[in-house]
Amino acid sequence: MSEASQPSGQFTEVEHLAPAGERLREIRHHIHHHPELAYEEVATAALVAEKLEQWGWQVTRGVGRTGVVGTLKVGDGGRSIGIRADMDALPIIEETGLPYASGTHGKMHACGHDGHTTMLLGAAEHLAKTRRFSGTVHLYFQPAEESGIDSGAKKMIEDGLFERFPCDAVFGVHNHPGAEPGVFLFRKGAFMSAGDKAIITIEGVGGHAARPHLTVDPVVVAASIVMALQTVVARNVDPSQPAVVTVGSMHAGTANNVIASTARLELSVRSFSPEVRALLKKRITELAESQAQSYGGKAVVEYIEGYPMVVNSDAETAFAIEVARELVGDDKVVAQADILMGSEDFAFMLQQRPGTFLRIGNGVGEDGCMVHNPHYDFNDSNLTVGAAYWTRLVERYLGQ
Ligand SMILES: [Zn+2]
Ligand SMILES: [Zn+2]
Repeated sequence: MSEASQPSGQFTEVEHLAPAGERLREIRHHIHHHPELAYEEVATAALVAEKLEQWGWQVTRGVGRTGVVGTLKVGDGGRSIGIRADMDALPIIEETGLPYASGTHGKMHACGHDGHTTMLLGAAEHLAKTRRFSGTVHLYFQPAEESGIDSGAKKMIEDGLFERFPCDAVFGVHNHPGAEPGVFLFRKGAFMSAGDKAIITIEGVGGHAARPHLTVDPVVVAASIVMALQTVVARNVDPSQPAVVTVGSMHAGTANNVIASTARLELSVRSFSPEVRALLKKRITELAESQAQSYGGKAVVEYIEGYPMVVNSDAETAFAIEVARELVGDDKVVAQADILMGSEDFAFMLQQRPGTFLRIGNGVGEDGCMVHNPHYDFNDSNLTVGAAYWTRLVERYLGQ
């Protein structure tokens, strides 16, 4: 450990990142102004790659299509750590009115991935400058977190992420509206739900509204299925287990005097254990098929597995909590936060390596606007805190 290069103490503190604050804000605002959707993050990836190269990182482009990996090896330590940030924006029309608001109509950084990318860039610059560790750091800048089925994390893994850039443990962060900025939230074990989609296509027999006896009305079948589905969580799932079945979309018919031939339901299905996940799939399929059959119709259920559960490993989470406590103090650390019914494709990375997904408060009350809302904005005060956290996590994980 080169003690001489350390202004105060052994490891990075938040104030060490203060001089980078303005620069990080500029980067974040630039990315915010130029949002790119899943797998279109060409300019964002180029910006990330150029910065990393400028600071002396070894850069690999095109990992998982538009993903970028930065690698920095210092000393002869044999350990390695991976940290991931997501880069994609959402198809939302921004309404913040900010000077750096989206310059592309219909695209917006409404989930704070501009902030996640910038916090990790801040750490990259500081780590390259201070180099107070021994081992290998890989930074995974990921595309397409928001794409649902065609996940960017999965794409990077399929592209050999953990073989080409192996790490002993992997870490990631998401901002968290509803908690004060600079507050870190952790949870050992299952933290975020598995998120699946089910599409139910009901086949009836169409005809004249005045002659219903000659038809099989798919609207009646759909209504019956929607009501029957309400019993899945209430009557089939163990009450101690969290689960959600939401019918988010229901479409049938074109006119008041026509009985449609088909109807279509789309469901969002959330669960917190493989057993419950399997049970939900089974009961949704059984209920839809048997309800339709009882009316003389037919239901075809397409069940699409989305992101798995985010499951944090105990040892790595305990370590990450320790580092946060050192950095911001006990009162800004929630060690065992409540579970979240949202989903995250970082789950795929946690299936491959031990590690933890943590959250950093983005604001409360008027500043607590939810993600995916046209008024949302990432909180810039987190940029230096987040960058300092990643830096210190590396220094501690790859301590000499
Ligand atoms: Zn999102
Ligand atoms: Zn997000």
